[in-house]
Amino acid sequence: MPLAPRLGFAAIVLAFACACTESPRPDMNTSTSTPANGNPLFTESTLPYHTPPLDRIKTEHFRPAFEAGMAEQRREIEAIVNDPAAPTFANTIVPIEKSGQLLSRTSSVFSSLTSSNTTPALEEIQTEMSPKLAAHSDWIFLNPELFARISALHDKRDSLGLDPESLRLLERYYIMFVRAGAKLSEADKVKLKQMNEELSKLSNQFRQNVLKGVNAAAIVVDDVAELDGMSPEQIAVAAEAAKARKLEGKWVIALLNTTQQPPLAQLKNRALRERIYKASVARGLGGEFDNTGVIAQMVKLRAERAALLGYPHHAAYVLEDETALTADAVNGMLAQLAKAAVVNAKAEAAAIQTLIDAQAKSSGKPSFRLEPWDWDFYAEQVRAAKYSYDESQVRPYFEMSNVLRNGVLFAAQQLYGITFKERKDIPTYQQDMLVFEVANPDGSPLGLFFVDWYARDNKRGGAWMSSYVDQSRLMGTHAVVLNNLNIPKPPAGQPTLLTFDEVNTAFHEFGHALHGLFSNVQYPQFSGTSVPRDFVEYPSQYNEMWATDPKVLANYARHYKTGEPMPKALMDKVLAARKFNQGYATTEYLAAAIVDQALHQLPPGQTPGAADIAAFEQAALARAGIDFYAVPPRYHVTYFSHVFAGGYSAGYYAYIWSEVLARATESWFDTHGGLLRENGDRLREKVLSRGFSIDALTMFKDFYGKEPDIGPLLESRGLSLSGTGSSP
Ligand SMILES: [Zn+2]
Repeated sequence: MPLAPRLGFAAIVLAFACACTESPRPDMNTSTSTPANGNPLFTESTLPYHTPPLDRIKTEHFRPAFEAGMAEQRREIEAIVNDPAAPTFANTIVPIEKSGQLLSRTSSVFSSLTSSNTTPALEEIQTEMSPKLAAHSDWIFLNPELFARISALHDKRDSLGLDPESLRLLERYYIMFVRAGAKLSEADKVKLKQMNEELSKLSNQFRQNVLKGVNAAAIVVDDVAELDGMSPEQIAVAAEAAKARKLEGKWVIALLNTTQQPPLAQLKNRALRERIYKASVARGLGGEFDNTGVIAQMVKLRAERAALLGYPHHAAYVLEDETALTADAVNGMLAQLAKAAVVNAKAEAAAIQTLIDAQAKSSGKPSFRLEPWDWDFYAEQVRAAKYSYDESQVRPYFEMSNVLRNGVLFAAQQLYGITFKERKDIPTYQQDMLVFEVANPDGSPLGLFFVDWYARDNKRGGAWMSSYVDQSRLMGTHAVVLNNLNIPKPPAGQPTLLTFDEVNTAFHEFGHALHGLFSNVQYPQFSGTSVPRDFVEYPSQYNEMWATDPKVLANYARHYKTGEPMPKALMDKVLAARKFNQGYATTEYLAAAIVDQALHQLPPGQTPGAADIAAFEQAALARAGIDFYAVPPRYHVTYFSHVFAGGYSAGYYAYIWSEVLARATESWFDTHGGLLRENGDRLREKVLSRGFSIDALTMFKDFYGKEPDIGPLLESRGLSLSGTGSSP
């Protein structure tokens, strides 16, 4: 099983726009090993592609399998360390790669079930196991004898006669151990563990403050007339929310964790809009659930930890292991994008101001300056007038099975020549699931693709891809991957009709699935989607392009009753609406990403104190030229959970970084004839089959022929450097 270091960085993924891949986090503690006793996790699956026997794995099987899996890996690592022979690649690195099979099997099924089909009993096991897994990971990565062997090999790596992938594996192991603190003195290792523990506590405190703060900031409305603009259903929800808070006869508007709040697009009452907005942005800034102190401590500790590990600041530590590599590269990309985004946001603001002025004039009332709490309300009016179409007009053309078989899978057949055969004999954890066997054009096997698209109460929100088995030539394995969506299930007998966003998500997730299935690497460490965070969304964001390809659309976007193709005028409206308001959306995202970098590019001793957090944020926005008053950051720091309670510190930029690569790839296809086998085969060979066996940026450049450029991304969002390309 590939090892992944754990440095106290929380693994919680808060998706910004779409979905992510998740891989089970390997980690763990010794305990008595339990005899297999019919526990199906204890033996390698004999099903096709070693797919787990999901029909036979029961909740009570996990605890003993985790315990025995940790013990097994510990014995395996001890055997490597205690080998009297001098370290070689074959007696040290290869056995690390092969270690922990039981743990790996257990973790992958467990994490899939806790995400997709959880129960209170599974969650209890998760709570119990996660500190044990963390300790197991620390035991491996801070094991001095193990590191001594890796380090000795690393010192003479050029004379070992290794092939490129093996050499890279040795280098990766060395880097992972060093980054986890393996080179520190014993005293500094203790210090590092304390810092990680402290950061983990602070992060938890931040999360608690955000949760309590968002509840405390909910808006209480006394007069239903103030809710003018909301639908009767939404007003009923607000009345229910009031009842739940023992405020019968009133209405409560609950807040989301973003700066902007959805009701602001509908509420006609300007004073109420202002009240909601101000409550939203005040969260965590002073008061009972103040987060400024937590932030100041976390930023300071992260800077000190980076220094302990030999880096100038936390961002340098994080980015070194990403595609971006350096803070300069990230700053450069963000600055370029910010310029275009702000120009377009200002053009959108001017158009909204014109609308406000015109409405004031015709009603004989004084006009006013557009404020952040007005933006969505007026933008929505422009949107409705310009792109008016009803979701109910579109959905009959997006029947679920059609979208899957004649859209998502069809595009892959056209591009890569691969085939899909439905398998009814493979066990699943839920009766709605589908399983396809995927094969190469010559009939040779690629793996299995599981589909779990329906929403359930015991499934987490969003959409994601995960793996049961990772491809590796060393282990002789093919990929077994799973896509999860959250499509509401209609009553029995009714067709499942998707929104266009759901269609797009289906293509997106299948891009991750292909990245797993096409993997053709030697070592599990490099398999499929085991790439940096700022690269992992690239294959999936790229694959979205086929949802709107004319040939693919013609094949799947057909009325579920009549089989008629979707009218072009309707599709054009759907596509045009996607470029709407992108100046705002891009600016608010970039503002948050820029503040994240600014806070984490400070050396120890220069991080702001609690009282200066808000001023620091404002100054960072001004320095970047993105301090446009009408477009506040998507998250102010005091509720920026990605960065202080998620795994995205100095990493929020990653979403747009990978989108730059995806849109550049899309433009490459557009200029090379689009949906052609030769194009698909090129991307498969240069990128999709490589996992992380070569450097990510090199992979991209091999395919694209040059450095990534931001032009295609700006174009796809309808942004232009002059601000004339977009109108609100
Ligand atoms: Zn994704």
